[in-house]
Amino acid sequence: MIKLKPSVEKLNAYFVNDVPYKVKLDANEGSNYLLQGGLNIEDFNPNLYPDSDSKLLREKMALYYGCNPENILAGNGSSELINMVINAYCEKGDKVTSFVPSFSMYQTYCDLCGAEYEGVETEKDFSQNIDKLIDKSLEINPKIVILCTPNNPTGYVTAKQDIIKLLDNVKDSIIIIDEAYVDFCENSIVNLINNYEQLIVMRTLSKAFGLAGLRVGAMIANEDLVRQIWKVKVPYNINILSQCAAVKSLENINLVNLYTKEVAILREELMNNLKKLNFTVYDSGSNFIFIKSPVDNLYEKLMICGVLIRKINYNSDIYYRITVGTKEENEILLTEIKNIISGEI
Ligand code: PMP
Repeated sequence: MIKLKPSVEKLNAYFVNDVPYKVKLDANEGSNYLLQGGLNIEDFNPNLYPDSDSKLLREKMALYYGCNPENILAGNGSSELINMVINAYCEKGDKVTSFVPSFSMYQTYCDLCGAEYEGVETEKDFSQNIDKLIDKSLEINPKIVILCTPNNPTGYVTAKQDIIKLLDNVKDSIIIIDEAYVDFCENSIVNLINNYEQLIVMRTLSKAFGLAGLRVGAMIANEDLVRQIWKVKVPYNINILSQCAAVKSLENINLVNLYTKEVAILREELMNNLKKLNFTVYDSGSNFIFIKSPVDNLYEKLMICGVLIRKINYNSDIYYRITVGTKEENEILLTEIKNIISGEI
């Protein structure tokens, strides 16, 4: 067999857990509430290629994000866009840094192009000391610094003044602020894109819009930077159905606002209930929570009950990330956890 390049050879392929479930709280997906009216075949022409530049979609996104369409590059999920930016800047041996733990795909995208990913440890309570990230960046001069806020998997929200401090101090690296979950805490710094030439903000419709299956994301930056990254975009990257459905969803922002407020209330309820059951619960500004469990093998035991959550191994400890579900889903989760604690499972 012909050998893969070494940086790819060492990777484990990403397979998604394929087990039967009754409640799925492992991937931070949102509820299906935006497209309940459905789409009509008259809304799009499946025989034609989609608009390669996603013009209408970018116009609607610009209204929501408070910028111009020229500030936006639309992607097949923000995953595609993060990968594109890393590929556009990094060659073998180039450095990328970010706090750890964070979104695991940053490391994978670096591996794909041979870039070296160097993590900066968060504090014991998973808060982020921005000075450590700044110092690391000035020390290793990375091509890209990535900051995820609210952070996946910890839920930590970086203060705006910390992000500004990073941008003011690290001028020679691209700085990606991954705001995949920011709709749940209204802490976006997207209004700064024209103040910092190195700033890229990533957004997605996979979470607050509940459209993970459509794969639509946005990279937002100053126009020059957007034009640069456009060079690595493949033609027709967003299919016609996704463009059409995303446009419809962006016309219903009031529903998104209602939904994100409801998730914030359900999140606080879930956090309080878990604290009462002696879980360590970390603050979260997102649609998921990050916890440490008083019982062993919580992931495996919940899976037997048909409840999927995410297990996170970090620094030889086990943590869990749980998506905030609907009221009913959270009740099922809590009932099963109580059964586990009382030894019934
Ligand atoms: N960034 C973060 C922090 C995420 O958690 C995810 C999805 N889990 C993404 C980006 C990618 O989202 P998508 O490709 O669905 O837009």
